[in-house]
Amino acid sequence: MTSVERLSPPLFDGDLVFGGPALEAAADDFGHLVRREPLAVVRPRTAADVVRATRWAAERGWKIAPRGEGHSLYGRAQVDGGIVVDMSGLNGVHDLGEDQVAVDAGATWRSVLAGTLPRGLTPPVLTNFLDLSVGGTLSVGGLGGTTHRYGLQTDQVLELEVVTGDGRLLTCSAHERTDLFDAVRAGLGQFGTITRARLALMPAPERVRRYTLAYPDLAGLVRDQRLVVEDGRAEHLQGAILAGGAGRQYQLEMVVFARDGELPPDAEVLAGLTDDRAGGRVEEQSYWEYALSFDALESALRSTGQWSNPHPWLLTVLPGSTAERIAGDILGTLTADDLGEYGRVTFYPIPTGRITTPFLRLPAEETVFPFNLVRFPVDDDPAQAERMVTQNRVLYDRVRAAGGVLYPVSGFPFTPDDWRDHFGERWPAFRSAKERFDPGRVLTPGQGVFAAAPSP
Ligand SMILES: Cc1cc2nc3c(=O)[nH]c(=O)nc-3n(C[C@H](O)[C@H](O)[C@H](O)COP(=O)(O)OP(=O)(O)OC[C@H]3O[C@@H](n4cnc5c(N)ncnc54)[C@H](O)[C@@H]3O)c2cc1C
Repeated sequence: MTSVERLSPPLFDGDLVFGGPALEAAADDFGHLVRREPLAVVRPRTAADVVRATRWAAERGWKIAPRGEGHSLYGRAQVDGGIVVDMSGLNGVHDLGEDQVAVDAGATWRSVLAGTLPRGLTPPVLTNFLDLSVGGTLSVGGLGGTTHRYGLQTDQVLELEVVTGDGRLLTCSAHERTDLFDAVRAGLGQFGTITRARLALMPAPERVRRYTLAYPDLAGLVRDQRLVVEDGRAEHLQGAILAGGAGRQYQLEMVVFARDGELPPDAEVLAGLTDDRAGGRVEEQSYWEYALSFDALESALRSTGQWSNPHPWLLTVLPGSTAERIAGDILGTLTADDLGEYGRVTFYPIPTGRITTPFLRLPAEETVFPFNLVRFPVDDDPAQAERMVTQNRVLYDRVRAAGGVLYPVSGFPFTPDDWRDHFGERWPAFRSAKERFDPGRVLTPGQGVFAAAPSP
């Protein structure tokens, strides 16, 4: 009997891999800060494969971690000595209707859009970077430039097919098994592996106009961002403080969509804004170009090698009432090296009224501000990365003390006590959902929610 036979693996429709590049990839992620070797990688071809993998792991006392595109930053999709379920091959786009589509959870948002756009349709909320998996972003939330209008991606999902931690293949929605539906959305992979999602769609415009506006300071940027969100003149609103070569720049980014084929005049879109007009940029784009605009940054980072460096990002959400002050204080402590030449701090308001995902934690205010340190260190220096990981903890504690919360994708360790504090009044519901759907605590140990994740 070989050593593999001794493990009595089930027969999979897809692949079971015990070594080589698949294991190497599963031991790493986009953060390059944490490395944990799994025992094996399952590449499911069907939802039944996910059931098989989950039951097999549960019977043997192993942990299991679903993995989408591996763009986690701190080992959240890794598992030490357990089974990684690499969902990237389960990526079909099915059953395209007039206002919804069913997609396999390993599909990227790029492939979803490529499937829907030829019919003039788009998911209402797209992440800035489209090479993230549907299952991966639905497990954390999924913020995009249209979140101020439509909430997060988890607010725009109609139905989920899930393999729970105890190996049941179940369908859930706002009408059926709502407890599972409410648990899995932004549930950090703790309750089930999402195998399929039915997503809401809306008509996509053919053309858009993107305005990248420059401000001399944070106050001016925030004043105009709030105005744009309040009067609803733009479909897409974000903003960032750039750290690059030209010194600090404050940028508002808004995009208006064509209606009935017509884009509104610039004068209407820009009315009342106080930007430095000479420093801004206005571009017309197709919807596809708009949705893929992150590609240019990715290409630049790949060409310098910085795409492969460690990425100790910190993603948080600040209360609207104090966001500008806290962000200003923290920005005052950051150097250009803390972010890197291509790094940025994304910062923009979103009203919370459209956000209904129960386990997505936000400050309890009508407006909140994502505040993200999107760091691209210029070199692959582990000591520097470690310093940034330590700094993330210090900054997170400041954000937390000011009523802010973690957007649960960040490059520093998070302990079970941190998670309990993070979920606050929702913690009892989170824990009880774990008892119901993953009583053996098989799923997704890399998040460190119910037991500390092993040291990297
Ligand atoms: C370059 C870049 C740009 C980003 N832009 C945005 C953005 O605009 N908006 C935003 O909200 N976020 C953004 N993020 C964060 C991103 O949404 C999360 O890191 C997301 O989890 C990554 O998806 P993934 O497919 O790579 O997931 P993975 O890293 O593979 O997994 C993330 C977590 O989800 C779990 N998981 C994965 N698949 C499933 C599944 N099918 N069922 C259950 N659990 C699962 C994993 O176990 C893990 O815990 C960005 C990240 C990067 C690196």
